[in-house]
Amino acid sequence: MRVAIIGGGLAGLTAAAYLSEQTGIEGILFERSPQLGGRAFTYEKAGFTLNYGAHAIYGLDRHTISNMEKELGLSFASRQVDKRKVMYEKANRLTPAPLDFVNLVKTDILNAKEKVRFAAEIAAIIANIHQIKNYATLGDYLADSGADEHVKELWEHLVCSNFFITPEDARQVPGHVISAYYHNLFLSQRPVNYILGSWAVITNQLKLKMEASGRWQLALQEGVDGLRYEDGRYVLKTKTREEAFDKIMFAMPVQQVVKLLKGTPWEPFMAPYENNRATEVMVYDIGLSRVVGRPFSYISDMNHKMFITDVSATDHTLVPEEGQLLQGIAYLSDDSFPEEADRKAYLEARTAQMEALFDKHYPGWREAIAVKRVSKKAMVQSVKNVAGNRLLPIRVESAPFYFCGDGCEGKGELAERAFSSARRAAELLVAELNKYAVGMR
Ligand SMILES: Cc1cc2nc3c(=O)[nH]c(=O)nc-3n(C[C@H](O)[C@H](O)[C@H](O)COP(=O)(O)OP(=O)(O)OC[C@H]3O[C@@H](n4cnc5c(N)ncnc54)[C@H](O)[C@@H]3O)c2cc1C
Repeated sequence: MRVAIIGGGLAGLTAAAYLSEQTGIEGILFERSPQLGGRAFTYEKAGFTLNYGAHAIYGLDRHTISNMEKELGLSFASRQVDKRKVMYEKANRLTPAPLDFVNLVKTDILNAKEKVRFAAEIAAIIANIHQIKNYATLGDYLADSGADEHVKELWEHLVCSNFFITPEDARQVPGHVISAYYHNLFLSQRPVNYILGSWAVITNQLKLKMEASGRWQLALQEGVDGLRYEDGRYVLKTKTREEAFDKIMFAMPVQQVVKLLKGTPWEPFMAPYENNRATEVMVYDIGLSRVVGRPFSYISDMNHKMFITDVSATDHTLVPEEGQLLQGIAYLSDDSFPEEADRKAYLEARTAQMEALFDKHYPGWREAIAVKRVSKKAMVQSVKNVAGNRLLPIRVESAPFYFCGDGCEGKGELAERAFSSARRAAELLVAELNKYAVGMR
């Protein structure tokens, strides 16, 4: 069976690595960029290793990447973010983020009564008996919960931080999504870890595995721009060739799948997913020639809904000797602005707030800059997991394709959704191959 995977990000590479284990499958992975990785693309600059998207793994011991480690024989080292150095800032006061019971006791975010309430909520989530799973959204649950304002604010802020979204969007996250996500995270022994050495450690191994099979080819700088059905096979068109395949797997953001299938017989199947909104943030990465200060590993500004991670405090492999790598991320509201100039002004204001946060906690950073990268609109997740949006299923009824990526149905959020949907898509495709093989006997 000949398979094409379109997209060489984490999802496409994961699917290719799993499929490359099957002797009955050969294929081509098409990637339109000159390099692999997609939004997990990693590059070196002035001795710093920068990721386009960050490489924090939430709940490592319960994360799909741990299944992949065993099943695909991946090898990587990781390091836990120091929980005692994860801080929240509210109205100019710094306090430990209540990430576990020790920090919950220490934090100023909640008073004693509120701490008891929040601890009971965590216990209910862990026991899978929390009522939130029966509510359409977090906002509906909070409105009905009778909880104090600080507890409500904490729930919203937690969801903002883990889903990279504003409080308005946090209130729109479905209750069952929150219940499943925090059940996993609160049970984890390794809540926030970095893969030492960045995403490249993973993408390189997936690529090697695929190539070592001898059955898979890599087509870089070959964007797929057309698809048709002919003589029982699917013909993909790129700028330089046309190739026929038995199966097609899309491993790219849903918006790009919709675009590629426009004008084909399969366009109608994509209609329910056309209006999905993506999660977008502003990213402000700075590589510093010296450690200008290390007051904490992570500071989340509750007033302005932005955070700074001292990435090199956890992953020292990414910086030259004595260097420091800080990443600022600001959640963005996707309100429509009447004029482009209004949106520009909004983004400029967010940039100024971010710089003020750097000034406050990392004085001297401006003079120590060795590398700087600011992206005012980075896509963190191709489908924001809020009510009104619809994640793309791995199989869509009546459409003959497989779909994976962080906008597809799967376990977890962000990169875990890319990994888990790709792992499942490969599993379904192999099951279909086996069914076909039995039918041929
Ligand atoms: C700032 C930021 C911070 C993040 N932080 C984290 C984090 O800490 N932890 C975490 O787990 N996740 C994080 N993420 C999210 C994570 O990076 C993404 O979820 C993940 O990389 C998505 O992978 P993907 O394979 O689904 O999609 P993509 O990476 O978008 O891959 C799709 C690929 O398809 C290619 N493509 C598209 N159209 C075509 C075509 N027509 N033909 C050929 N190729 C095509 C694209 O070039 C791309 O390479 C972050 C993301 C950002 C932006």
